Amino acid sequence: MGQSNDNNTDSQNKMSETGKDNSSKKPKFNFNFYWIYGIIALIFFGMQFLNLGTGAKQTTWEIFERDMLKTQEVNRIVVVNNEQVEIYIKKEKLNDEKYRDVRSRTIGNSLNLGPHYYFNISSVDYFLNELKSAQESYPSDLKKLHTESETRKNWGGEILGWLFPIILMIGLWIFIMRRMSGGSGGGAGGIFSIGKSKAALFDAKKQINITFKDVAALEEAKEEVMEIVEFLKKPQKFTKLGAKIPKGILLIGPPGTGKTLLAKAVAGEAGVPFFSLTGSDFVEMFVGVGAARVRDLFTQAKEKAPCIIFIDEIDAIGRSRGKGQFSGANDERENTLNSLLSEMDGFTTNSGVIILAATNRPEILDSALLRPGRFDRQIGIDKPDLVGREAIFTVHLKPLKLKKDIKPKNLALQTPGFAGADIANVCNEAALIAARYNKKFVDMNDFQNAIDRVIGGLEKKTKIISPEEKEIVAYHEAGHAVAGWYLEFADPLVKVSIVPRGLAALGYAQYLPKEQYLYRTEKLLDEICMSLGGRAAEDIIFGKISTGATSDLERITKVAYNMVTIYGMNNKIGNLSFYDPQKGEYSFTKPYSESTAQTIDIEVRNLIATAYQRALKLLRDKKDQLEAVAKELLKREVIFQEDIVRLIGESPFATTEPQKHKDLAKKARKKSNGASKKKPKPIKKTTKADS
Ligand code: ADP
Ligand code: ZN
Repeated sequence: MGQSNDNNTDSQNKMSETGKDNSSKKPKFNFNFYWIYGIIALIFFGMQFLNLGTGAKQTTWEIFERDMLKTQEVNRIVVVNNEQVEIYIKKEKLNDEKYRDVRSRTIGNSLNLGPHYYFNISSVDYFLNELKSAQESYPSDLKKLHTESETRKNWGGEILGWLFPIILMIGLWIFIMRRMSGGSGGGAGGIFSIGKSKAALFDAKKQINITFKDVAALEEAKEEVMEIVEFLKKPQKFTKLGAKIPKGILLIGPPGTGKTLLAKAVAGEAGVPFFSLTGSDFVEMFVGVGAARVRDLFTQAKEKAPCIIFIDEIDAIGRSRGKGQFSGANDERENTLNSLLSEMDGFTTNSGVIILAATNRPEILDSALLRPGRFDRQIGIDKPDLVGREAIFTVHLKPLKLKKDIKPKNLALQTPGFAGADIANVCNEAALIAARYNKKFVDMNDFQNAIDRVIGGLEKKTKIISPEEKEIVAYHEAGHAVAGWYLEFADPLVKVSIVPRGLAALGYAQYLPKEQYLYRTEKLLDEICMSLGGRAAEDIIFGKISTGATSDLERITKVAYNMVTIYGMNNKIGNLSFYDPQKGEYSFTKPYSESTAQTIDIEVRNLIATAYQRALKLLRDKKDQLEAVAKELLKREVIFQEDIVRLIGESPFATTEPQKHKDLAKKARKKSNGASKKKPKPIKKTTKADS
């Protein structure tokens, strides 16, 4: 995935650059929210200014009474909002020297018509009383003044009260929108691009230089998609004959097996543009966004046709509808899926848009997606087998400077269960390790370290383990190794290590599984027995058990339940399989009765108890060998198959693998590439790490 991500960001950068070019051609002025802020600020400022313009001066009751009221110079008295008194001086008196300050307006120097003075009052009644008694004390021939009252709105405050929350909300909204659209909405678009698809566009000519040569191993898949390439190159050849090319192809397989790579190679071979995005790109918090993005994607794609759309992890949107337990949260996803379906129906087969989608959980996809006319063709992509791994190693070793003795075959042998991405990772790690030691060439030692690292995470040199713990781990791992050694159907051992790695694993045993697709009951029982070998060894040697076997137990519990409930390998339950691919792990309804459930539990428990007794007996019989292997492990920390042969002799079953087995495996593989893809496979791990 790493590589493809790099490409993605590259292409996005390119796109945004071209975007900038376009916008710079537009006129410079563009509407901006800061303008609104500016205008509002100006209005406030202006109003403030107008107020000042009246030029009223503050005064007090005493001054007012003594110098203006008594002297008969007041024209009007206005009580404003019951809290302020404004005084208008008679026009003819304004020429007096004492009114020089208020005579004219502060702006414009024209005659000030008032109010000329103001003062604050705490109570209107009190003021009116004062005024009345003051006027009564004057000579009676003086004219009595009456007050007027006026309610005045404070427009500034009012507007502020209204506007402020609105501005705040708009601001918040813009902020959230920017966040949602990926934080990139600096300039153009911003909020308005939320419904745009996030697909990264790889332009055929420049960016895709991946061809089928870069895709190793997946021969059958390549053959299938070859037809697509042909169609994209020469559509007439097919349409002339009336043939329809599938609109959608579903690539099914575990992560890292090269699905993205294959899709890119198709685009690269055909020389067409390639839209790449993942299912979760459609998912957004807002209702309707996913659907809008789907539509936008298809509009873009149709413009660029012929082209390829690649949707990784389509299960993020394509999950079967109406199955969710918390339905409300799924409505948006359903809308997205519906619009994807209708878009796929909407374009005709010869429009030249082909959708490749990848998933590793085809069983949870909505059946409507898999109907003819949508993703009607499915290509299974499995983890590579020995030959496949060799081919992938060959591809990824090419750019490295290697020591002569490195053979892809040897590396493939040591990496059972690795996917293409893991192999690419190993090659890169090995080169990094070699570089760290300033080597001229990458040698086998570097590859060993790289493989270990990929399996177990970083080696923890600093992790401190007490000698007692180390002894327990050594016996535990030796228990696995020795038990497997004497079990007919157990996978052959590759190496055992008690070097602590990662956070949890204190040690691990690595096996080379036979490439096979059908498992007999005996094989599964032997595997369970071998997995219990670790705990059994602790039990025998120390008389105590530890948490070291947790992951072993987890694994075998699963296998045992599968044997009883899915593979029909239990007499009491019989040939029934309760496998339901549509159901999640945490489903509350069971397709069997309560009493069957009890029987299942009992049978599983019996199965594991029997296997444990078998492991105990085996290891008691082979206690000397167990001791020998454990001592060697404590001494050297990592031992290989040869060391065990040297210590305890060849495994009695080492060479007895009949040819029949291989044939069976081959046949099974052929079949599984076709119809039987959906069959559940036994849970299987090649590397057993112990906490
Ligand atoms: P997926 O999409 O299945 O998760 P990718 O296609 O992203 O996996 O694979 C990740 C990387 O692993 C690729 O970029 C490539 O380097 C490597 N890889 C995977 N499968 C193969 C293969 N069959 N041949 C060569 N390289 C592979
Ligand atoms: Zn174990």
